Amino acid sequence: YFVVFEGGEGSGKSTQSVKLAAWLRVRGHEVVLTREPGATELGNRIRALILDPKSSTSPGVRAEALLYAADRAQHVDKVLRPALDRGEVVISDRYVDSSLAYQGSGRELPSDEIAWLSNWATDGLKPDLVVLLDIDPSDGLARATAGGKADRLEQESVEFHEKVRFKFRDLAASDPTRYLVVDATLDRDEIAKTIAEHVAQQLPA
Ligand code: C5P
Repeated sequence: YFVVFEGGEGSGKSTQSVKLAAWLRVRGHEVVLTREPGATELGNRIRALILDPKSSTSPGVRAEALLYAADRAQHVDKVLRPALDRGEVVISDRYVDSSLAYQGSGRELPSDEIAWLSNWATDGLKPDLVVLLDIDPSDGLARATAGGKADRLEQESVEFHEKVRFKFRDLAASDPTRYLVVDATLDRDEIAKTIAEHVAQQLPA
């Protein structure tokens, strides 16, 4: 069973994925909690190349899309498929929808090309459930950068992040059975409860 958390900056994906993992472990499930970009050694190097605001290697739009795809291909091959093959529950903080939203909508690369590239990189591996933590980018960016540190993407304009948000919402609307959309401004324990109840209904016992 493969669950993905998606959402903009400061939407609480990391917090909620940790909470869901803990909840599932208490119920006896083996859980792998992972993230993109940067879950593998190769992925971590790619993450540094893409996101360091001071990096002189700042990639162009197409190079950036390919780097995310390379990170994801390695993630599927070394982490996601092996864990799913062992019958474990996998929770990933970001997956393909992030590329459709950021590289597709945000960077304005053709959505069908990003979809094709993502499908190739993942060899067709799709999540059973995508939890979208939906937040207004002004609120989200304020939360994400509250500590004073912004990565390269968090320095993009609010308009960029608006496009990202609307793509996430479009994707969710196009496949309601695979998505759970949650208002990310609600109380974090309330959000965790909603997600846990939804997952409990779907998980094989
Ligand atoms: O979720 P996290 O904050 O770790 O993501 C790191 C950054 O990578 C975010 O600022 C996000 O905007 C960016 N990102 C992206 N395209 C992806 C995945 C993440 O621009 N496909």
